[in-house]
Amino acid sequence: MRGNAAGWTDMITATDTPGARPSPPLWLLAELTYRCPLHCAFCYNPVDFAKHGTELDTGTWCDVITQARRMGAAQIGFSGGEPLVRDDLETLVAHARGLGFYTNLITSGVGLNETRISGLKDAGLDHIQLSFQDSTREVNDFVSSTKTFELKQRVARLIKAHGYPMVLNCVLHRYNLPHVGQIIEMALDMGADYLELANTQYYGWAMLNREQLMPTSEQLQEAEATVNRYRERLGDRCRILFVVPDYFETRPKACMNGWGSVFLGIAPDGTALPCHAARSLPGLELPNVHDASLRDIWYDSHAFNAFRGDGWMREPCRSCDERDTDHGGCRCQAYLLTGDAAAADPVCAKSEHHGQIGQVVTLARRPVRESEAKPLIFRSRDNSLLLG
Ligand code: SF4
Ligand code: SF4
Repeated sequence: MRGNAAGWTDMITATDTPGARPSPPLWLLAELTYRCPLHCAFCYNPVDFAKHGTELDTGTWCDVITQARRMGAAQIGFSGGEPLVRDDLETLVAHARGLGFYTNLITSGVGLNETRISGLKDAGLDHIQLSFQDSTREVNDFVSSTKTFELKQRVARLIKAHGYPMVLNCVLHRYNLPHVGQIIEMALDMGADYLELANTQYYGWAMLNREQLMPTSEQLQEAEATVNRYRERLGDRCRILFVVPDYFETRPKACMNGWGSVFLGIAPDGTALPCHAARSLPGLELPNVHDASLRDIWYDSHAFNAFRGDGWMREPCRSCDERDTDHGGCRCQAYLLTGDAAAADPVCAKSEHHGQIGQVVTLARRPVRESEAKPLIFRSRDNSLLLG
């Protein structure tokens, strides 16, 4: 799939209307670290994460946060890897909160104990999103290659005890889709106010394991029917979001609500990202906060202007009346599946490459003999150094 990047970096222009100023970023995602005690086979972090440079220090993160707030960003997510492995997390949260950011911690829960949560509460943390892997110990521990099943329950109780809304996230794939009903029950037992059931998006490690993780359409239909039954029963008691995998759609998602539109990600080494997976795009010179101000990065860098607006689009997107809705889909997915980052996202039925998606979905229905089954590749430093 890699290969022809088709010279798209030369073709692209900045915004649609020359001189038009883009809106400022609204959402800053601070990926504090690629370190993580878990080894999820569906992790969206780059496969070569172990090869990326030193993490930003506390002072530099505070400066980045200040710059983003001055530009108008209102919400900050602290993620990773596992952000709790940074012992300055409380300092960073307090800094962001002091500037008026709405602060959100996205965590596996590993490392969240009474001391840390009290410190985070004192720092003004607004919101915690806790991920879990399954309703069974077997699948939870298998897909994360760790023994963390009981820990999630303990952490959930801690979060609740400190007065936070219980916001849970579970990534779905063929191993746990048949358990959706039990996953919802487990979330309710954990006191969930909000449950996000997000089918795997195929980037990073998930792309490596796509064949093994891809569900069948029957699994998806059954899971969605189960979710709908629970929604009716639960009403407002717990809101459940079910995110269908792109591959089963005929129109792509409006990735990042448009490139360089609202989302600004900063990787652990200070690389600025217009999309979580932008590191996968060859030829895109991603700027770094060590070398440029956030303002210059957002408004003037080549990378952030590369796919802004619709000036970069080719057919069929260029003349499509849906281009303001989905912005041509995801640039990283377009590249991963077609080798051309300026192509229409092949999830779209109008794309000449849409047949590829159909093949992957059809392959998922094929019964696989145990002797033929490919093993999952887990996210680990060793695998990253080997495969990245
Ligand atoms: S998906 Fe799993 S391995 Fe990746 S950062 Fe999250 S918890 Fe860690
Ligand atoms: S052709 Fe392009 S703009 Fe139109 S629906 Fe498909 S991806 Fe979206």
